[in-house]
Order: sequence, then structure tokens, then C-alpha cells
Amino acid sequence: MVNKAKCFEEALQQVRNHRHISLEQADALRQDLLNRHADLKKMEQDLISLIKKQMIAKISSDSLASDLQKEYDALHRQRSAALTELGYAPDVFEPKFNCQICQDNGMLDNGYCDCVKKIAYQKMLEQLNNDLPIDDFNFDSFSLTYYDDLNDRRQMEEVFTFCKQYAKEFSLNSENLYLMGSTGLGKTHLTFSIAKEAVAKGYSVIYCTAQSMISDLEKEHFNHDSISIGENYRNSQLLIIDDLGTEFLSPVAQSVLYNIINTRVLKHLPTIINSNLTATQIEERYGQRLISRIFGCYKTLKFAGKDIRIQKMLISKKV
Ligand SMILES: [Zn+2]
Repeated sequence: MVNKAKCFEEALQQVRNHRHISLEQADALRQDLLNRHADLKKMEQDLISLIKKQMIAKISSDSLASDLQKEYDALHRQRSAALTELGYAPDVFEPKFNCQICQDNGMLDNGYCDCVKKIAYQKMLEQLNNDLPIDDFNFDSFSLTYYDDLNDRRQMEEVFTFCKQYAKEFSLNSENLYLMGSTGLGKTHLTFSIAKEAVAKGYSVIYCTAQSMISDLEKEHFNHDSISIGENYRNSQLLIIDDLGTEFLSPVAQSVLYNIINTRVLKHLPTIINSNLTATQIEERYGQRLISRIFGCYKTLKFAGKDIRIQKMLISKKV
């Protein structure tokens, strides 16, 4: 499960830790150099004293403040030359921040700095990969060569193109998808590719099997203290439910499943369901209410072909 808030919190902490270390390192280096070079120490004291005088002068006299500024600039140049002569960079006293925009503070007036967002999205991707331990699922690694029947390939080309475009344009206005087809036809591969792109765009994504989601929601149903578990499923900006139809189905499971799907439809939050169940099988297993929600509010993509995992296995055995 991808926890967006936690990823941002950790990313901000990471950026700020770096700021703290940079300031400490710069300060230690400064003290060391000033202790070893009396002329630098004198210049440093003079620079600080000029800053103080300038602050007072700014209140009373603009011309005095301007003269003091010139004096400060000249002394600053002198110090840079002295540092260069000693073999140090003129900015050796400055902390070495990773981000020049926020100086490793992580926050700007309008929210998180891009440096935090970049780290947070990386963390979200890592979490997504932990949920599904195959990290090479992306659109580039999806091959249509396994669909050898011409009609199957044409159909899968359409599905592939649609999914790629869906990922590229993903937003909270994106439609719900029902990916229907037998095991091993690439449903997980394509939905995981969509999830990766949605995460990279900064959306919160939960990728789960129907079984794990229903277990969590059942816990919430029976134990009201664990209500926050269900909040993630209800509020994540994209929810992907893999393998619908393989879960153990009790009356409570049926009810929590309908509730989550219905709630997300009402909240206009995109959901993608992977399943090998046809419309008739969905109706038989879950009843009229759920089928009207899924087939009334979801776009169905039909997968075709022969099990890719078995084909890959056969090819590897031939080699
Ligand atoms: Zn920054």
C-alpha cells in the first residue's frame, strides 16, 4: 500500500537532515580555518561588525548604509582573495545545500519544494514495488509478440494503446476501468504500469488484491477502532483491485466490497479492477447491485490471447 502522507513526511525529514548536516559541516570548517588563520579571523570579525553597523545605519541614513555596503563588499573580496591564496574556494564558508531553491528547507510559500516531491515520489514508487515485487512492469516491457493470433493481437494493441494513453492523461477525472480476461494475459502488467505513472505524477495509489483489501475492510467492519484502514481504500486517488473473484466470499465480504466500489463511484475517485470474471459470472457471484455499479460506471477492457506466463515458461525450457 502506498502511503503518500508518510512518504512526504519522510522526504521532508531527509531534505532537512541534509540542511542540518550542511550547516554543521560549514560551521566546523569555518571555526577550523579561523582558528588556524588569524588574518581570516580578523576579516571575519570586521565583516560581522560592518553588518551590525549597516543594520543600524539603514534606519537613520541611506548614504551611510550605502558607504558601509561598499566597505563590506571590498572586505568580502579581500577575504575571497585570501581564501584563494590559501587554496580554498571563495565560498568555502557557505553551507553546501543540495537544493538552491529552498536551501534544503523543503518548504516554499506555496507548499513542498520540488526537491521534496522528487524524493517522495521515489519513495511512493518503492512502496508500490514492495507491494508487487516485480519492478520491471512498465509499458516499455510489455510485448505484443506473445499474442500470436491476429485478432487477439489487434484487440490487445487497442487495449495497450488505451492503457498507455490512460496513464499519460491520468487525473482525478479519469474513468473507472474493468480489465477482464483469463489469468496470464497481461492485466497485472498493464495496471501496474498505470499505477507507476500515476505515482510519478504525484497521485496516491493503492494496489492490492481483492482478498487483502476485503480482509482489511472486514477488520474495520468488526472493529471500529481500525476505521483508518478503510479510509485509505476510500480516499486514495487511484485504487487498483487485482484478482477480483479469487477472494473468499462471505456476506460481510460482499457487503464491504459493494460499499467500497459504490463509495468511490460517488466520490468520483478512479478505480481499476482486474478480474477473469465475465459479466454473467460477476452477477452470479456478487449479485445485481454490484454488476450495475461495475458495468454502469466502468469502462470494460477485454483481454485476449493465451497465458503469457506459460508461453514464457515453454520458451525458456526450449532454450
Ligand atoms: Zn528544494
